[in-house]
Amino acid sequence: MTRRTLETLSFDNTYARLPQAFYARLNPTPFSAPPYLIHADRAAAGLVDLDPAQLMRPEFPALFGGSALATGMEPLAMLYSGHQFGVYVPQLGDGRAILLGEATNERGERWDLHLKGAGMTPFSRDGDGRAVLRSTIREYLCCTAMRGLGIPTTQALCLVGSDDKVYREQVETGAMLVRMAPSHVRFGTFEVFYYRKQHEHLKTLADYIIDQHFLPLRDAGDKYARFFVEVLERTAKLIAQWQAVGWAHGVMNTDNMSILGLTMDYGPYGFMDDYDAGFICNHSDHNGRYAFNQQPYIGLWNLSCLAQALLPLAEKDALKAGLEIYQPLFEREYLTLMRKKFGLVAEQAEDDELIRDFLGLLQGSHADYTIVFRELSTFSTVDGATNEQLREHFLNRDRFDEWAVRYRERLRHECNHDDERRGRMNRVNPRYVLRNYLAQTAIEKAQNKDFSEIDRLFTLLQDPFTDQQGMEAYALPPPNWGKHLAVSCSS
Ligand code: AMP
Ligand code: MG
Repeated sequence: MTRRTLETLSFDNTYARLPQAFYARLNPTPFSAPPYLIHADRAAAGLVDLDPAQLMRPEFPALFGGSALATGMEPLAMLYSGHQFGVYVPQLGDGRAILLGEATNERGERWDLHLKGAGMTPFSRDGDGRAVLRSTIREYLCCTAMRGLGIPTTQALCLVGSDDKVYREQVETGAMLVRMAPSHVRFGTFEVFYYRKQHEHLKTLADYIIDQHFLPLRDAGDKYARFFVEVLERTAKLIAQWQAVGWAHGVMNTDNMSILGLTMDYGPYGFMDDYDAGFICNHSDHNGRYAFNQQPYIGLWNLSCLAQALLPLAEKDALKAGLEIYQPLFEREYLTLMRKKFGLVAEQAEDDELIRDFLGLLQGSHADYTIVFRELSTFSTVDGATNEQLREHFLNRDRFDEWAVRYRERLRHECNHDDERRGRMNRVNPRYVLRNYLAQTAIEKAQNKDFSEIDRLFTLLQDPFTDQQGMEAYALPPPNWGKHLAVSCSS
């Protein structure tokens, strides 16, 4: 395997070869205080063949903290627009992130190295171009958590801190995060050229993305419509995974929707503690537009914005037909994932109701979503078993008992053993998720220059399905101070 150094990283900057209207070229603005490494991800480094020993070099935080450039980087800020909270905003773009370059690996893959918090760009509007330590830690850890859970996501190569002050509701310190993805193109990247009536750029963008990421479609006569359907399928599957694991994005604006179906732009996201279908993780989302149970519909809404942006390229009827498959596809995906969470192998018509009723019980009991699903694997189908430990999570025990009878019957139909089922369920129901309060603890320590909790969570979340020794406390519900923490868009 090729082992690259910081000096021999290989770049092929295809985005920089697109028309100038797509971006603004500029270099990161260094912090005035020297940047220092807070954490780096060896697995992410491996995606660009970077030797893990390179992460320890003093040049590493300089390079990925905005103070230096590597040979071959061609930094630029990407243009995009998008619908924010339902309203079209004609110009957004990378206001505080810079695409340093596209690093290639020996498998021929290309990975965007995107430096978040890199200073002002022509798209900064009123912002300062910076990211605070708090929000970069949240992004860094959640990328790890999502990857550990098997949910498509952008990656985070490293977290670099600085003592530079950044002003939000209070004075904080700045940090930079290197985000990696095969592409950072968003729904909003298409929207900007549609609304500007720059249809030649729209076509260039669509061809570029299809050639790089949807190659089998390249020669299809209706390639743009088929491209749309593929994006739609990836988006529906992604959101089904969010719903199954109990995660809310918080700001599903179309500029935060990856064209590759990745979870991206981590802001005021949240894993649910106690189950609440109407969970709103974003303190600034007063109307609950992006509440947990709205996410599947918002996914469709966002896809309809993308469909509109593709109207100059694809047949309207084909795009409409694409949109029509979203709901059934989402429901099928969600049901498949939920069956696995319940340990069900076969498909039965009444599964939907069994699942829904269980969620209703969770909601009525304010029971912890992650803990109860993990404990569900201990469910015994033996005659007379009361499943006492599980039962205790529910306020209405009679209703739980009624449900348990149905579940037992359903499991017995499958003719498998409790032990075997338990193993399967524990591979889909995580023991650990990045609860808000856990991230908050890591943040508060890091604000005092103690980065040990970031490392502990990073290690833990790599493997959320395995019980890890000495980490029992991380699987517990939040302490009182850590329940319903307010997280806003401020980052
Ligand atoms: P976000 O809510 O992080 O997805 O950002 C929405 C838009 O605001 C994007 O165009 C960002 O680049 C921009 N933005 C967010 N924070 C800042 C900041 N501190 N400085 C400049 N632009 C920002
Ligand atoms: Mg964004």
